[in-house]
Amino acid sequence: MRAACARDVAEATRHAAAQGLTVSPRGGGHHFTGIAAQADMVIDLGALDGLQIDPARRTARVEPAVTNARMAAALARHDLAFPLGHCGSVPMSGYLLGGGIGWNSGGWGVACFLVEAVEVVLADGRQLTATETQHPEILWAARAAGPDFFGVVTAYHLRLTPAPRAILTGVRVYPAADAAQVAAWAETAMARAPAEVELTLKIAAPPPGVPVPGPLVEAIATVFADGEGQAQAMLADLFADAPAAIQTIGTMPTPREVLYGFTAQFMPQGLRYGVDSLWSDAPMPQLVARIAAGMAEALSARSLALVMLRSPLTVAPGAGAFSCIGRIFASVHAIWQDDVEDAAHLHWLRATMAAAAPLGHGRYVGEADLDAPGRAAA
Ligand SMILES: Cc1cc2nc3c(=O)[nH]c(=O)nc-3n(C[C@H](O)[C@H](O)[C@H](O)COP(=O)(O)OP(=O)(O)OC[C@H]3O[C@@H](n4cnc5c(N)ncnc54)[C@H](O)[C@@H]3O)c2cc1C
Repeated sequence: MRAACARDVAEATRHAAAQGLTVSPRGGGHHFTGIAAQADMVIDLGALDGLQIDPARRTARVEPAVTNARMAAALARHDLAFPLGHCGSVPMSGYLLGGGIGWNSGGWGVACFLVEAVEVVLADGRQLTATETQHPEILWAARAAGPDFFGVVTAYHLRLTPAPRAILTGVRVYPAADAAQVAAWAETAMARAPAEVELTLKIAAPPPGVPVPGPLVEAIATVFADGEGQAQAMLADLFADAPAAIQTIGTMPTPREVLYGFTAQFMPQGLRYGVDSLWSDAPMPQLVARIAAGMAEALSARSLALVMLRSPLTVAPGAGAFSCIGRIFASVHAIWQDDVEDAAHLHWLRATMAAAAPLGHGRYVGEADLDAPGRAAA
C-alpha cells in the first residue's frame, strides 16, 4: 500500500496485525537485495518526503523519501552539511536505518549517530517519538538495525554540521600489477592523515581503449576542509610519497553535485546489481590483493570494487545497533544488464567475497548480500 502520511502507516500496520500479515516498509527499494519487497504487505513510504531545516539550531526533520541529492541541495542553501550517502538517488529511509557510511563519515561520523530522534510506528500501530531520553532503546535500535528494525520510521531528526569551505578530489591511476605497492602506500599515508581525508581504491576494468592488462586501481582521495589552502595541503601530504601513476587527475574542486555526478556514472540506474561488503582490520595489501584477484575474473566490465581505508582519527561510532566496524570498508559490486546472467554474476560475487572474507570480521547491513544462501552474516 502507498502511505500518504504517518497515520496511514499506523492504520496499515494495525490492519496487517489484525489479519496476521507480515509487513515490510519500502523506502526507495534501493537495497541491492530487494529485501524491502519481501513481505505480505509492503508499505511504500515514497510519498513521505517532507524536509525542514532549522539553520539556527542546525537541525533537520527529514521524512524517509528525501534523497541524498535533495538533502545536499537544501543543506547547501544554509551552508550546512551532513554525512550523506555517496549516491544522490538513495533516500534517507534505509540509508540512515542501516547506519549510513557517507561522504566524510571519517570526520563527521557514521550518519546514524547524528540521528537525535526518530518518529516511529510500532507493529501494533502505536506512534511515538524515540529520543535519547524517551524510549532510548528504540533509538538505539534505529541506529543501524536496518532490515531487522521492528517498526516503521516515518521521520528522522538530524543534527547538522557547518559546511566545509572546500571539498577537493585528487586521483592517481595504476595498473593492477601495482596494487600491492599502492595498498602499502595507502596504509602509510592514511596512518598520518586527518579524519577528513576519504581515500578509496576503486578497482575496475579499464575504460575501452586504455591498453592496460587486467583491472585498474584508482586511488581517489576527497578531502573536506576549512579552506582551499588547507584542502590542497591535505592532498599534497597524502600523495607526497605515492607510487608513480599512469595518470593523475586533479586536484579538482568537487562540490556535492560534482561528487554525485561521478558516482552516478559508475553506478547507473536501470542495471542489475549484486553487492556485498566487508569490514576488515587486515593489512591493506593482503585484502587488496584478494579483491583485485577477484576483479581480474569479473564477468562484466561494469563491475567494481571499492576499498576505503579510514584514518586512525576517524570519529568512533556511538551507542547503537551499529556494532561492527573496521579500519577498512570494502564493497564489491557486480553490475550487469541481462537477467539471464543473474546466476553467473552472483556466483562470481560470492566467490570473490568468500576469498576476501577470512580477512574481515563482518558486513555492513546496508550493502550486504542478505540473499547469500546459508549464511547468517555478522
Ligand atoms: C547506488 C547505491 C549507492 C549506495 N551508496 C551507499 C553509501 O554511500 N553509503 C551507505 O551507507 N549505503 C549506500 N547504499 C546502500 C543504501 O543506503 C541501502 O541499501 C538503503 O537501504 C537504501 O535505502 P532505501 O530506503 O532505498 O532502502 P529499501 O530498499 O527501501 O529498504 C531496505 C530495508 O530497510 C527497511 N526500511 C527502509 N526504510 C525503512 C523505514 N523508514 N522504516 C523501517 N524500515 C525501513 C526495509 O523494510 C528493508 O528491509 C547505496 C545503495 C545504492 C543502490
